[in-house]
Amino acid sequence: MSSLGPLSRRSFLVNASTTAVTASLCSPPTARAEVSLQANDGTDQLGKQNKVQLSQIHGPSEQNEMAPEPSLPANKRVGFAVVGLGRLSINQILPAFGASKHCKPAALVSGDRAKAMKIAAQYGIPESSIYDYKTYEQLAANPSVHVIYIVLPNGMHEEYVVHGAKMRKHILCEKPMANSSVEAERMIDACSKAGVKLMIAYRQQYEPHNRALRKLITDGELGRLRGFLSTNSQQMGDPAHWRLNKALAGGGCLPDVGLYCVNAVRFLSGEEPVRVSAQIWQPKDDPRFKEVEASMSFTMHFTSGLQATCTTSYDTHKSQSLRMEGTDAWAEMSPAYAYHGNKLKWSKLDKGKETQFVPQLEEKDQFALEMDHLAECILKDKPPHTPGEEGLQDHRVMEAIYEAAKTGRLVEIAPPKGPTRAQELQQTA
Ligand code: NAD
Repeated sequence: MSSLGPLSRRSFLVNASTTAVTASLCSPPTARAEVSLQANDGTDQLGKQNKVQLSQIHGPSEQNEMAPEPSLPANKRVGFAVVGLGRLSINQILPAFGASKHCKPAALVSGDRAKAMKIAAQYGIPESSIYDYKTYEQLAANPSVHVIYIVLPNGMHEEYVVHGAKMRKHILCEKPMANSSVEAERMIDACSKAGVKLMIAYRQQYEPHNRALRKLITDGELGRLRGFLSTNSQQMGDPAHWRLNKALAGGGCLPDVGLYCVNAVRFLSGEEPVRVSAQIWQPKDDPRFKEVEASMSFTMHFTSGLQATCTTSYDTHKSQSLRMEGTDAWAEMSPAYAYHGNKLKWSKLDKGKETQFVPQLEEKDQFALEMDHLAECILKDKPPHTPGEEGLQDHRVMEAIYEAAKTGRLVEIAPPKGPTRAQELQQTA
């Protein structure tokens, strides 16, 4: 059996322990901001030298209490401008800075100044670092901003990413990356030309339970992968919300929540789907679904023999689960894609008896882990684990799913340009 304990605690965050690093937060010549991880005494501030571990006071039968890994001091942290102060920013992202080790909120961009002032006061952001959509480009001159985090409706991602890259700031962009693969390619191109990093915020790829399942699979515990079943659905209420507007959302449940199923099977298996069949449901008499689909089901086929059957809906009670079936074992997560409380169990024949294992993993803030990963990539000049190309391939898969649903045919999916998924994971995981 795999040892899942250590994985959940430490091996997941890029090991920031030993080498002293001096890196450019904004690498291009303009708006250059140097940061040094070198402490005054010459030690690495992220390194073991700064870790304070107190002696244990309990007996040998008790679990040791571990000190946290060292954090960067406030004046060395990577500064984020959060663009769009909606539900995700206010309820998840901004509170996650409290759990982050390397990042801090440095600026806000919002159309509602009164709301932004209240949020800025809570997070210690100066009034001079509050912008609106018309003054967005003034972020270029703010030296405390190293990363722009785009948390706007999907149809606005391209414009704000491309302008952010032109300002020579690194970019973290919410999922789905854009409204189409064409937009996604332009975003990758803009960031590459500007020499800035582009990461897509696939938080579940940084979440301990999803990571643990990926490790079970790569350790061979499940054998050869044959079946993946997943659903990600929720009940939409407000018919006027942008998620039901095609121009702002790009589609309905598929790009918003169904995307998690697509990305999970790619991440967990390390394989790329090669063709897909699909069905779509868009009721004519429901005002919520005038422009976008209510539900979809689709089956992705892989050359290894793996088949992934997924459902997604904007018209069912919240439901988020996955099941990976291999030749030697199965694993389930329910919930699989939640902000909190994800659960993993797996089952195999053990000493002649079918046995279920329920790894006890420490819950961590996925948003903090994801932001800290980007900060480390910037400080150490490494490619992010979920770069723009990851978002681009999901758009290609989703476009094939829509085409399959429209035509009733099996639709081929173009392979990713550049390294395969498995090669990328080896480089960055
Ligand atoms: P939201 O509706 O709560 O917030 C959107 C924000 O954009 C609001 O502050 C709104 O005022 C602003 N905005 C600016 N121009 C707008 C326009 N023309 N129309 C509508 N709003 C406009 O949405 P959200 O749930 O915060 O989602 C934002 C992004 O985050 C989306 O891309 C979404 O897919 C993504 N998201 C990701 C996760 C995740 O778990 N990673 C979860 C939820 C949302």
